Amino acid sequence: MRPPSLFPLFAPITALPGVGPRLAPLYQRLAGDKVVDLLWHRPSGLVDRRYCPRLREAIPGRIATITVRVEAHLPGDNPRRPYRVRVSDESGFAHLVFFHGREAWLRELLPEGALRVVSGPVESFNGDISLPHPDHIVPPERLAEVMSVEPIYPLTNGLSQRPLARAIRAALDRAPDLPEWLDPARCAEQHWQGWRDSLLRLHAPTELAELGPDNPARRRLAYDELLSGQLALALIRAHLRRRKGRSLTAPAGALRERALTALPFALTGAQTRALAEIEADLAAPAPMLRLLQGDVGSGKTLVAFFALLTAIEAGTQGALMVPTEILARQHFASLHGLADAAGLRLGLLTGRDKGKARATLLADLAEGKIDLLIGTHALFQEDVAFHNLGLAVIDEQHRFGVHQRLDLAAKGQGVDMLVMTATPIPRTLLLSAYGDMDASRLDEKPPGRTPIDTRVVPLTRLDEMVTGISRAISAGARVYWVCPLVEESEQSDLAAATQRHQDLTVLFGERVGLVHGRMKPTERDAVMARFAAGEIDLLVATTVIEVGVDVPEATVMVIEHAERFGLAQLHQLRGRVGRSAAHSRCLLLYGAPLGEIAKARLEILRASDDGFVIAEEDLRLRGGGEILGTRQSGLPDFRFATLATDSDLLEEARAEANSLLEDDPDLASPRGEALRVLLYLFERDAAIHTLRSG
Ligand code: ADP
Ligand code: MG
Repeated sequence: MRPPSLFPLFAPITALPGVGPRLAPLYQRLAGDKVVDLLWHRPSGLVDRRYCPRLREAIPGRIATITVRVEAHLPGDNPRRPYRVRVSDESGFAHLVFFHGREAWLRELLPEGALRVVSGPVESFNGDISLPHPDHIVPPERLAEVMSVEPIYPLTNGLSQRPLARAIRAALDRAPDLPEWLDPARCAEQHWQGWRDSLLRLHAPTELAELGPDNPARRRLAYDELLSGQLALALIRAHLRRRKGRSLTAPAGALRERALTALPFALTGAQTRALAEIEADLAAPAPMLRLLQGDVGSGKTLVAFFALLTAIEAGTQGALMVPTEILARQHFASLHGLADAAGLRLGLLTGRDKGKARATLLADLAEGKIDLLIGTHALFQEDVAFHNLGLAVIDEQHRFGVHQRLDLAAKGQGVDMLVMTATPIPRTLLLSAYGDMDASRLDEKPPGRTPIDTRVVPLTRLDEMVTGISRAISAGARVYWVCPLVEESEQSDLAAATQRHQDLTVLFGERVGLVHGRMKPTERDAVMARFAAGEIDLLVATTVIEVGVDVPEATVMVIEHAERFGLAQLHQLRGRVGRSAAHSRCLLLYGAPLGEIAKARLEILRASDDGFVIAEEDLRLRGGGEILGTRQSGLPDFRFATLATDSDLLEEARAEANSLLEDDPDLASPRGEALRVLLYLFERDAAIHTLRSG
């Protein structure tokens, strides 16, 4: 349970003064829906009001804080002229300028003859100094208060600086003193203060340099975050390893023999290597937790299938979980032949299966009459009970969270887990997402593939492209047409795809299909099936085709507004073509004008077909920004840490997390208690629940 000291931080954001129901959605968009989320919203600039020149010496363009005497009010002589207030100090005169100023209010604020401190940007017009709309106008006794440095926060449309700063102040006021979870020696060496002091420092920068990545306060908080992440991963891993595993071997290899005979091709070297690594894990008594990485089309499914054969021959059952209904059905269909040849009994379970058929399936599963169950999230459902689950394979696993992986493991005792991903993950990211997970790579494609000819073309040349596609279709090509991703609105995604479908139907007639995320799965499958069968030549799609779909006859991929996609996602989409010996093309259409980086990103795709190269290059190009389309890939998005600047901290956090758990596996020592608070602070609750005394 979350420690009470953190309760004030986990209150809804509306608990803060000034954050009512109207503004709450804006705060949510900007930071999150809890008070704690605002703590991580750090300043991006500052306003330094410590510059106090005399009027005559005030440098235009700077923000100045000056004590002046109010001389005279000069209302504008027509409504378009500003209201001016003439002020002076011993060095000279200036005007405070107000557009649409209300006279009564201004006279009250600035009584003639009184001294006032004014603070704001200085302007100069024909040698006359003016201060348009000063940010502060206060009596002289409040000078010290104004002469401060104010943080400037990134905003969102509709939210302005002052209320945001006030809400963040209030959130900071709620931040409790927490027990130190870091090693005091590390803190001393790095000149790090405690958590709360660091937070306060971060939000009270006094120099521009403090906004940079080297600010010790930021580094400390980034380290906290990275440590919490690495500790959580290490806990989950330890939990998985603590389960009593068992050794799964198939010395005779009878099932595999039969499947290999039925297979029309040989395994690639990479597939054989990966399989050997997996089988070594299966044979070891500890439960396996291994990641299988490989580009789209590199043949992961087959590797998984052969690993499953070993587990099944060893007397257990297997599960293959995929993220979508379409994929589950496709795997089921494509593995059927091999399964029959090997003598396996396959089952298919998706969210769509209901009633009697489902009940029968579940009964068979529980009795061990099904050897391999293929399915979607539905496999997690509580009433899904295996007779003896030995190996669980999770495909395209970035779609599933860590706790979901745990859920599947809980369906058996000491279940071995293989997770597969087509998102090529650079090492730093791998580390941050999985900690020290074992990984195998398929770095070699099955033979007989021809490289995909990728072109980057402005959307203005759409007509030309359509002519070319028309020719290709006449020659028998099958075409995917992926429609633009529109920010924040599924609705407009759909509108764009529907419109494009209409346009293309006018040109190409009835042999144009449309699939999108809002369709019923049955309808969607039907359209996909017609495309696979060649009854449809051109398939317009939103990104639902992204994952795993296999239509080897498709040879043209058109992606509209490619610049709006993550590189990894583009690479995955492109992988839908080039699956046969025929020449394949990918057209990346972009909306002009395109920035330097955006161009360079698309250029990477044109130049390389290697997912790992693309991932590394993208990471390098984007630097600290949003990496590799983490949003699409489901990799963790850090609040504080940026892998570009904090990868040294990441390595240290990993080492420290491991050594901490070695000394105190249950986090039971006083420092362990403090670390639990850290885990809760960064919402790693799932990891804490793996602790026996959690
Ligand atoms: P991934 O899941 O990695 O994207 P798949 O397992 O779907 O890739 O494989 C893509 C295609 O390549 C499938 O049609 C599969 O039958 C085929 N394939 C897999 N392994 C080989 C191989 N060793 N030789 C030839 N074709 C292969
Ligand atoms: Mg696959």
